[in-house]
Amino acid sequence: MESYPIENEKLKVLKSLPTPSFVIDEGGLLMNLTLLNRIEKISGCKILLAQKCFSTFKLYPLIGKYISGAVASGLFEARLAHEEMKKENHVFAPAYKESDIKELDTICGHIVFNSLKQFKLHSPNCHKASLGIRINPEFSTQNHAIYDPCSFGSRLGVRLCDMPDELPEKIEGFHFHTLCEQGFEDLEKTFKEVEKKFKKYFPKLKWLNLGGGHYITHKNYNVEGLISLLKYIKDEYNLQTYLEPGEAVVLNSGFLTSKVMDKVFNGLDILILDASAACHCPDVIEMPFLPPIFETSENGKYKYRLSSMTCLAGDVFGDYNFEVEKNIGDNVIFEDMALYTMVKTNTFNGMPLPDIYLLKQDLTVELIKKFGYEDFKGRLG
Ligand SMILES: *Cc1c(COP(=O)(O)O)cnc(C)c1O
Repeated sequence: MESYPIENEKLKVLKSLPTPSFVIDEGGLLMNLTLLNRIEKISGCKILLAQKCFSTFKLYPLIGKYISGAVASGLFEARLAHEEMKKENHVFAPAYKESDIKELDTICGHIVFNSLKQFKLHSPNCHKASLGIRINPEFSTQNHAIYDPCSFGSRLGVRLCDMPDELPEKIEGFHFHTLCEQGFEDLEKTFKEVEKKFKKYFPKLKWLNLGGGHYITHKNYNVEGLISLLKYIKDEYNLQTYLEPGEAVVLNSGFLTSKVMDKVFNGLDILILDASAACHCPDVIEMPFLPPIFETSENGKYKYRLSSMTCLAGDVFGDYNFEVEKNIGDNVIFEDMALYTMVKTNTFNGMPLPDIYLLKQDLTVELIKKFGYEDFKGRLG
């Protein structure tokens, strides 16, 4: 668990907002974007926002000022980037519907197919987009089974043994994505494997997409190593490189505000919050991980289990040590809550969706979206 310093002034503003709310931190976002922009400029690589991680499109114009575009996981995300970012627009999906592919071909500059069958089926209907296939390097560097596309039985990507001797003519690029919150060293090892297995096809290609999962904006990331690998790929093989990070774009760029509704005791003190892990940040339970929280530390004197207002017994954020006592009516502010949160919320138990705010660099706050009963009801009939 990691906490990053935010000034008291910021905390004061966060505590003044209605709960629960997501608050996007413009300052944090800009720090990430500035680094990504530098990497683009020095390496010649193009960086795309993976929208499945963050799709709060109000921020797309700002993001589009710093990086080259976005990548979608299907038609809806592709439309969103087309309408709201209006820059490079790529799409990858394990399969496409015939009814979607014509529109994708008109709004996406790049379409990546997951199999040669998908490519054969849809490529006759693609006339504008540059087409590619996803390859499976069969080289695992992580232990999160559900995030490992190289694991046994994975449906993601074409393995070397299934590649034809000659690439179909319309294939102009390769895509691989195997990492999740990983450093440069794992990318380097993976690329070496890709190079060893697939380089005979490189002369036919125009671009290589190295996927996401790069922890680029994390403090220990080897940025210079990444830049030299990207330059090497460009110089050695004359390929346009792409990276499509999600997390790295919005790491440490948001908060979730909540309020203590009740405090009960059952072997330990339990705070019942108006935010829910199951509804507002399901990755906390799925992955699982312990989100950082303001006013907590390893040795904090006040130990609480944080849970929520739903009826799910396991709707628990985790156990925390607070430096201050928390009572009914107090705020609890979660940090690093921009990634894989707003895109994954649900209204299970009739829980309200958190409103979305933007906290600007000058500490003024702008309401992006308010949700209510109609958003709960509207999805159900
Ligand atoms: C999830 C995903 C990404 C983004 O991953 P992050 O871990 O958020 O950087 C990029 N590309 C593909 C194909 C993905 O599935």
